Amino acid sequence: MDLIDRKLHLDKVIERIEFARVCVNQHHIVKTVAISKYSKSEDIKDLYEIGVRAFGENKVQDLETKSKELEELPLEWHFVGSLQKNKINKLIALDPYLCHSLDSLELALALDQRLEASSTTMNALLQINSANETTKSGVSKEEAKDIYQQISESCKNINLKGVMSIGAHSEDEKLIRKSFQDTYKIYDSLDQATICSMGMSGDFEEAIRCGSNMVRLGSILFK
Ligand SMILES: *Cc1c(COP(=O)(O)O)cnc(C)c1O
Repeated sequence: MDLIDRKLHLDKVIERIEFARVCVNQHHIVKTVAISKYSKSEDIKDLYEIGVRAFGENKVQDLETKSKELEELPLEWHFVGSLQKNKINKLIALDPYLCHSLDSLELALALDQRLEASSTTMNALLQINSANETTKSGVSKEEAKDIYQQISESCKNINLKGVMSIGAHSEDEKLIRKSFQDTYKIYDSLDQATICSMGMSGDFEEAIRCGSNMVRLGSILFK
């Protein structure tokens, strides 16, 4: 796709985001993170040229490769994948803007310890497995609030900003909506949480209508 077509395509996606967000209310602001995990640095650069600034990867290695290749651009990098303990130090060194995928208290404690040792901090979200799917990581809805509070209290080097969830893997819109509503309810009950990261290419409008203020769009932006 050339840049003009890309821009027209991006505008259509932005229009859909705008339409969904004003349905919630006109003060509801939604941030878009372009998930570049299936894309090359040249494609990221194309989206940069037409105004996209926030990008996300789901593997620490890819985040390192692409953020270094694009070092000269003022990009904001997000990490959205499962974080293995042996990759924690590498992620800290890359200093992402936000890690969306803290999926257990144990991981949070390990990350906090390494952050302490490096005298630095990291912004992060607690990932909730709101549809209770075995294929997904994240804490259960039932434990989410407790674990959130435990991380807030015991991990001084982690700035917990809110929650992230992946919508139910289903054709049934009601189930998908329920998973977003459940996540939003937890988010809404937390003190000082400001980010509710939900919605991907196939379900971002529903996620926004349920209160998401950060969407993670991969295939729809990079096609
Ligand atoms: C891949 C991925 C996305 C983007 O998925 P699309 O369906 O391509 O928009 C969003 N969030 C996470 C955690 C992902 O791994």
